[in-house]
Amino acid sequence: MTERLYYTDSYTAEFRAGIVDASPDRRRLYLDRTAFYPTSGGQPHDLGSINGVRVTEIVDEDDGRIAHVLESPVTADQADCRIDWERRFDHMQQHTGQHLLSAVLLELFDAQTISFHLGAESSTIDIARPALDPNEVRQALDRANRIVFENRPVTVEFRHSSEDLGLRKPTEREGDVRIVAIEGMDRSACGGTHVRATGEIGPILIRKLEKIRGNVRLEFLCGLRAVRRAHADYEALAAIGRALASTVDEAPALVAAQIEKLQDAEKSRRKLELELAQARGRQLYIETQPGPDGIRRIRRQTASITEELRAEAQAFTAGSGAIFVALAEEPASLLIAVSRDAGLNAGKVVKDAVTAVGGRGGGNPFIAQGSVPNRQLLDQIVPQLPL
Ligand SMILES: [Zn+2]
Repeated sequence: MTERLYYTDSYTAEFRAGIVDASPDRRRLYLDRTAFYPTSGGQPHDLGSINGVRVTEIVDEDDGRIAHVLESPVTADQADCRIDWERRFDHMQQHTGQHLLSAVLLELFDAQTISFHLGAESSTIDIARPALDPNEVRQALDRANRIVFENRPVTVEFRHSSEDLGLRKPTEREGDVRIVAIEGMDRSACGGTHVRATGEIGPILIRKLEKIRGNVRLEFLCGLRAVRRAHADYEALAAIGRALASTVDEAPALVAAQIEKLQDAEKSRRKLELELAQARGRQLYIETQPGPDGIRRIRRQTASITEELRAEAQAFTAGSGAIFVALAEEPASLLIAVSRDAGLNAGKVVKDAVTAVGGRGGGNPFIAQGSVPNRQLLDQIVPQLPL
């Protein structure tokens, strides 16, 4: 068993220990005692160095030993250890912030924390509640940050599992239980590293809510992470404000108004496009000479059959004695429109032709479209159409 110095002191950043065992390549070391925190309980492992060699991973092994994985071998018997303090302290802030937020959510809304994840960018907790409204988020943030300002002590004690431990969430641990307490607020069984008073958590920010399997996943940041994120948010909002020539506070209403305007503009653009297509169809009818049978015919190759193309075809066949055929590549498909006096049922012609080769389609007697599995089949059926 490795003696875990971080159990009683989370602030040891440099220490000396004996190397009691190692892998044959001397890149996996076992110390008699360590302040390096291994990945566990939702908190990632520490980084740092041993005898100047970079530590890449710290592993909590099943037999109670902690493995220190190194970038290159260390052959000495003694280890001079240095923990990447900036990373560790950040983890202590996020982790203690989690205890506090979980306690506040239970106190205010009776919402039990189900799980916790400490990520590289942000952290999340899942709470047993279907939803949390904006007002509740504000309440939780106010309460948690006020307890930060009160700078309440965060303490560690070891008690036996048979005692009444008064925990926020019951533990399944037997024997000695490590209890991390925020004065007057929270008692949790936990093996992680924590700050010594709530003031060191720094500001707490909730930034995102997500519904996951009937629970709410809450993304939060503490300390410098919260400050940097809030500043990045400010910069993004300020850029939006500048683009809209407005203040940050006015931006949401302005953006909503711009979206509405854009939707209106898009709607009238669509309308104009269709009107233009109809005008094209009418013009085409005027410019097209009828054949010996008195029918005006248009044969069009196109990339795809669009709403505009249908409008053009319908306008063309609004005149008497007209047939409009379009063949499209992607997907392989055809459109047939006929005038009322053309003596053809477009829906029947298309349906019969495409279903015969495994395609699908149909329409009404005057306009119809269908698709076939590939372009070759299209080339095969078109010459046989009674057009
Ligand atoms: Zn903890």
